[in-house]
Amino acid sequence: MTEQQTQQTPKCRFCNETLEHTFVDLGMSPLCQTHISQEQLNHMEPFYPLRAYVCGECFLVQLEEYVSPCEIFSEYAYFSSYSDSWVQHAKRYTDLMLQRWAMDRSWKVMEIASNDGYLLQHFLAEGIPVLGIEPAANVARVAVEKGIPTTVQFFGTDTAKRIAAEHGQARLLLGNNVLAHVPGINDFVGGMKLLLSPQGIITMEFPHLMQLVENNQFDTIYHEHFSYLSFCTVSRIFATHGLRLFDVEEIETHGGSLRIYAQHAENEGYAVSSRVGELRQRERRKGYSDLEVYMAFSEKVKETKRQLLEFLINAKSTGKSIVGYGAPGKGNTLLNYCGIRQDFLDYTVDRSPYKQDKYTPGTHIPIYHPDKIQETKPDYVLILPWNLKKEIMKAGEFIREWGGKFVVPIPEVEVCAWDS
Ligand SMILES: [Zn+2]
Repeated sequence: MTEQQTQQTPKCRFCNETLEHTFVDLGMSPLCQTHISQEQLNHMEPFYPLRAYVCGECFLVQLEEYVSPCEIFSEYAYFSSYSDSWVQHAKRYTDLMLQRWAMDRSWKVMEIASNDGYLLQHFLAEGIPVLGIEPAANVARVAVEKGIPTTVQFFGTDTAKRIAAEHGQARLLLGNNVLAHVPGINDFVGGMKLLLSPQGIITMEFPHLMQLVENNQFDTIYHEHFSYLSFCTVSRIFATHGLRLFDVEEIETHGGSLRIYAQHAENEGYAVSSRVGELRQRERRKGYSDLEVYMAFSEKVKETKRQLLEFLINAKSTGKSIVGYGAPGKGNTLLNYCGIRQDFLDYTVDRSPYKQDKYTPGTHIPIYHPDKIQETKPDYVLILPWNLKKEIMKAGEFIREWGGKFVVPIPEVEVCAWDS
C-alpha cells in the first residue's frame, strides 16, 4: 500500500478495521513537547492534524501515527519528579502493592516508561529488585544517577524477549500512562505477555475514556497520546494477547484514570473481582459500545472553546491581566485549538527547568519560573494542568494578596473559589 492510500484509509491500530468515524477534530497542532527556544522563534514549526477517530468495531478512540515515537520520546522534557502529587501517588501505589501481595525481596519489579525513577525508588527503598525501561535517554540518565537500574529502550515484543533473556521475567510489571502512548498497541501488550512471569501481575494506569467524554477533557488529546481507552476495549485488547484482567480501580489521576490488574489467561491465581463486571456493565449502560455517545462529543468541545474565549475576551476588555500556570501537553492542545496566544496570556510558568525560558509550541507564549507571578501580580492565573488544580492553588495562595484568582478551563471555564 502506498503512503497516500494509507493516509486516505486509516486503520484501527488494534483490530485493523477501517476508521470512518471522527470522534473530534482539533485542527492542526504542533507536538506538545517541542518547546521553542529563543533562537527557534523565527523558524518554521511542523504542525500535524489532531483528529481523533473512533473505531466502529472495537470502539478504540485513536489518532493516526503522524509522528514516530522515536521523534517524540527520545529526548523528553517531562520529568515525573517535578510533580509532587505524582510522586506521592507513586508512593501510595507502592505501599498498596507491597501490602496487597505481601511482596518480599524475591519479587522483581519492572516498570515500562519508568521516567526518572519517581516510582521505582520506593520499591528500591524496600530492598526489592527493580528494573526501569525508559526510551528517553535524558530522563533515564537521571534515574541511573539515583541508583535505579534503567535500560534505555522502546518497549515491544523484541525488547521484552531481550530483557527476559538478560534479567528474567517480572513478577510485577507496571506501566503508568504509557499504554495510551504507544502506536503499536498489539506489539506492546504482546511484549508484556512475554515479560511476565507465570504467576506475575501486570498493573497499568491510563486515563479513562469515559472520564474524557463525560468531563469534556478534549485537551488530553495530543499527538503523543495515540489511544483513548474504555475498560471494555482494553479488556478485549488484553484478552487477544492471552492476558486476563482480574481487577480494576477507578483513580483520580489525570482527571480520572483506570488502574487495571492483569494475569496470564492460563493463571487462575487471582480471582476476578466484582469490580470488573460492574465497570463493564456501567460502560455498556452508558453507551460506550455504541457509536452515538462518541459522535455527540465534538459539539461539546466547540462549545467549550466558545465559552473559554468569551471569558478571556471579557477579562481583557475590562483591563484584567491573565497569565497561565504550567506548560503541559494538554495546555498545548487547548492553546492551539482555541487560538490563545500572548494576546490573552502574558506568559505561563512551569516548575520544570527544561521548559523555563522557552516558548509554548505553536502559540509562542513565554514560559518562566513560577516566581514571575509574584513579580507581575496578574488578576487571573489560568491553570493549564487542571488535574493538578488543588496542588497549584495551594502553592499559589499568595495571589490572594492582590486579589488574584485561579481559573480552570475544563470541564468548563470556572473562576476557582478559594475554599474548593
Ligand atoms: Zn478497532
